[in-house]
Amino acid sequence: MSCTNVSVLGATGSIGASTLDVIRRHPGRYRVFALTAHASAEALLALCRVHRPRYAVLSGPASVSKDEFSRLGTELLVGHAALDQVVAHPDCHAVMAGIVGAAGLSSTLAAARAGKRVLLANKEALVMAGPLVMRVARAAGAQLLPVDSEHNAVFQCFSEKKSVRKILLTASGGPFRAVPLESLEAATPEQACAHPNWVMGRKISVDSATMMNKGLEVIEARWLFDLSAERIEVLIHAQSIVHSLVEYVDGSVIAQLSNPDMRVPIAYALGYPERIDSGAQTLDLISIKTLSFEKPDAARFPCLPLAYAALRAGGTAPALLNAANEVAVEAFLGRRLPFTGIARVIGDTMERVPAGAAETLDAILAADAAARRAARAQVLARAA
Ligand code: NAD
Ligand code: MG
Repeated sequence: MSCTNVSVLGATGSIGASTLDVIRRHPGRYRVFALTAHASAEALLALCRVHRPRYAVLSGPASVSKDEFSRLGTELLVGHAALDQVVAHPDCHAVMAGIVGAAGLSSTLAAARAGKRVLLANKEALVMAGPLVMRVARAAGAQLLPVDSEHNAVFQCFSEKKSVRKILLTASGGPFRAVPLESLEAATPEQACAHPNWVMGRKISVDSATMMNKGLEVIEARWLFDLSAERIEVLIHAQSIVHSLVEYVDGSVIAQLSNPDMRVPIAYALGYPERIDSGAQTLDLISIKTLSFEKPDAARFPCLPLAYAALRAGGTAPALLNAANEVAVEAFLGRRLPFTGIARVIGDTMERVPAGAAETLDAILAADAAARRAARAQVLARAA
């Protein structure tokens, strides 16, 4: 079998590390073609020493010597545009879209446009530009494989769309699922990032604590599986063992279970349609004993209804939601906004900035910029 050349975007992040771990287990099957990072040049160089990619990309502002990379046989490219360049390279076969946030949209689109196999972790790309990304991927014959554990689970359980009644996305409820509601105002970034079941980057960890992560995932699912909002339900499942479920018209419900380990969906997306070793531990249901499910509480998790409202409003509304969320989460992590301020900033931004048509990338990026300006003003006003 020929070797698949994989570009890992966001290689220094949590998804990047899990992806490289799976790749390392299959040396004859996958070769690292390119590794990218935003600012952490040292961490990128350390990964290049291990994986010896053809290209490394440092997308952010950093002064770094190219010599250390070239000694390894790696060409270092600098700047955001280089991301689009490496993913479209004819020798790159598969792309792990593992950049966090709106910053991942352009390279995800570039990989889709170049007709690559796209392993999609960067959910924000689909939230901002779902119809556009899907259209571009279809036209170019790109294969879009979901890496988000819920969507990967649905993908594994999904057969004929016409026989699907609905899908049920599970959510752990994050670190604040059961704390007194009054304590949320004073919740710290450390508490919000201490996820009970998963170790992830800081932005998605805060999104899990607010449950905006699930809101973004509902929107992501809408485009990946072409189902309306009414057919996408969210269930709190504190153990994070059932990663999502598909309900069929005959009453059958099919679920995918595994330990909470991102290497499972990553290995599935890498190997598809074959299954390959992921390194994850075998699931021990006897020691887990209980799998529980409950309805999410809108008072505790106001971000979830905000996301459904954005999805129903359509057009650029999800891009506005995503941008406001990114600004609010960054302000919270920088201790410039209380935890409960995140949903307020997003809600206010959605009220102030009108949504429009999302036919073009320019319209989407303009909406993103307008929402960021409005959200930043909200953060400042709340700090005053
Ligand atoms: P992370 O913060 O750990 O890593 C982010 C990566 O993106 C880093 O390599 C960083 O250098 C790069 N990056 C950051 N800003 C950038 C910019 N402006 N331009 C280019 N590169 C930039 O994040 P993560 O937890 O690995 O999440 C990555 C994506 O995967 C997110 O969209 C997240 O929602 C999604 N995801 C993550 C998990 C998980 O378990 N971590 C699970 C499901 C989905
Ligand atoms: Mg997820």
